[in-house]
Amino acid sequence: MHEETHQTTLDILVLAAHPDDAELGCAGSILKWISEGYKVGIVDFTKGELGTRGNPEIRLKEAESAKNILGLTHRENLDMPDGFFSNNEENQLKIIQVIRKFQPKLVVINAPEDRHPDHGKAAKLSIDSIFLSGLLKIQTYNNQEIQKPWRPHNYIHYIQDKLLIPNLVVDVTPYMEKKIESIKAYQSQFYNPNSKEPQTYISSQEFWENIYSRAMEMGRIIGKKYGEGFILPKPYPLHNVSDLFY
Ligand SMILES: [Zn+2]
Repeated sequence: MHEETHQTTLDILVLAAHPDDAELGCAGSILKWISEGYKVGIVDFTKGELGTRGNPEIRLKEAESAKNILGLTHRENLDMPDGFFSNNEENQLKIIQVIRKFQPKLVVINAPEDRHPDHGKAAKLSIDSIFLSGLLKIQTYNNQEIQKPWRPHNYIHYIQDKLLIPNLVVDVTPYMEKKIESIKAYQSQFYNPNSKEPQTYISSQEFWENIYSRAMEMGRIIGKKYGEGFILPKPYPLHNVSDLFY
């Protein structure tokens, strides 16, 4: 019997320039949201092939292993060129297709600016695609089937290397160890005293320790041990005054 292709939707779609951006930026929140019953997926733009350590095949395997640790509903890679992708029609259409396919209510995107220029670029590409995805006259297809326009309700930026001031902080205290486990899935990239590969900015012990100190800094803002900070681009509407009784 012919099996109809089942359309999976996601509540939350996380977009990332490189495999590991999502884990470093918001794995704790992803774990929390999944534990609350939301379906979350990650779409990586590039394979991180310009990374000094590892190679695209290793990075894909590592991303897959992190997917299983996090319990994601979906993960895919759009195969844009690391370091050299542009905010152009071709890449916008790729992201529009993904947004329309999964119809997320919330999209979580790269930091608006960062040490690595790909991060701010990916954020702008994501914001433009989120808007364009809602326009009826932009036609995209999923397996020859024309897609319906879809505009997510909202987007937020995770914060990456550069310390930016959050206006939204998620308590990730119960998920910190699992977050660390998902980052460790990227064995080729991070601190490993036995590695023979060249030392990089992110493979130093200091970078590893900073994952904890950053989480503590963000946690402190909300009086919790560990937090993850986000930037909501517009003011949060107060639906219920009791939201402020925390
Ligand atoms: Zn990155």
